[in-house]
Amino acid sequence: MKEICSFSLEELKIWMEQNGEKPFRAAQVFDWIYAKDALHFDAMTNMSKTLRDKLAQQFSFPILKLLKTQESEDLETFKYLWELPDHKRVESVLILSGDRRTVCISCQVGCPARCAFCASGKEGLLRNLSAAEIVEQVLHINRQLKAKGERVSHLVFMGMGEPMENYDAVVKAIQIFHAEEGFGISQRRITVSTVGVVEGIHKLAKEELKVNLVLSLHAPNQHIRKKIIPYARKYPFEEVLMAMDAYAKETKRDITYEYTLMAGINDRPEHAAELAALLSRQQCTVNLIPYNPVDGLNLQRPKRETIEGFRGVLEQAGINTTWRYTKGKDIAAACGQLALVKEHS
Ligand code: SAH
Repeated sequence: MKEICSFSLEELKIWMEQNGEKPFRAAQVFDWIYAKDALHFDAMTNMSKTLRDKLAQQFSFPILKLLKTQESEDLETFKYLWELPDHKRVESVLILSGDRRTVCISCQVGCPARCAFCASGKEGLLRNLSAAEIVEQVLHINRQLKAKGERVSHLVFMGMGEPMENYDAVVKAIQIFHAEEGFGISQRRITVSTVGVVEGIHKLAKEELKVNLVLSLHAPNQHIRKKIIPYARKYPFEEVLMAMDAYAKETKRDITYEYTLMAGINDRPEHAAELAALLSRQQCTVNLIPYNPVDGLNLQRPKRETIEGFRGVLEQAGINTTWRYTKGKDIAAACGQLALVKEHS
């Protein structure tokens, strides 16, 4: 069976033509799924019964099953646990912040990057998600929001997985998120976060859709980075930074670096000074994320004064910083806490 949410509008038009239907039927299907929230083909009443039956025979939809929703105490973060057709599981997070409704999407089951501080890669990569499995996370959350007169406004590929290692499905999903007939979310409101896969960064820069790209830097030099990010061995510091510069030039987007602060590892004043010297030549933002605890890892979040001091050094050097106020920690929905959820748990 094919997955309807893995089809771009163009692809579905071609499918219609190949099946003896008028191409405009594709837009109708999109309208039913993405605007009218139909959850089965039989609801698509402006199409013939024959076509509806054919679609139902050939396409599986919906493919994600919602197993559980958890909400944080402050009611600003919601975590969704989905079951995939092969019974594997992934999570997404919805973050409410002012008018923003941001969905943090997973793109893989597990993660190949295995960063020392992150729960997602603890058991490596199990498999890639299809475009439909990515798209449906947003589809179902958007559906719930619409019932309250709201809708998803921003998307971040910061859930489980490394987007550059599931490149084609991620780009296809982005096309559907962006398409007017899909979710109509502007490119500027879609953010991809990468551990630093150099060829992926260059490839993304050439895509028609120019999304925001952030790099998980987490260290002021290759020596420290290599210790906490295995991928740094394959993609050295300087090459990753050059790829980010090239992305910024090509897309005219600002560069953002993520820096997860871990006590005694990358949070010292000399690390801040080294980072400041490295980045002061460019227009960029450093997003400081205090480490969120992950079971079984012997790492600590720095003290508040340490984080403030680190931030001060960067600001003094004229570097924009944001300090991500960690949301959703009480439901393990914060950065790096999305782990493989076992079938028995
Ligand atoms: N694979 C992508 C996206 C995944 S995670 C990437 O590496 O960018 C999104 C962000 O959360 C990354 O910057 C990641 O390094 C960070 N992160 C992972 N574990 C964390 C933890 N325990 N505490 C704080 N941030 C963490």
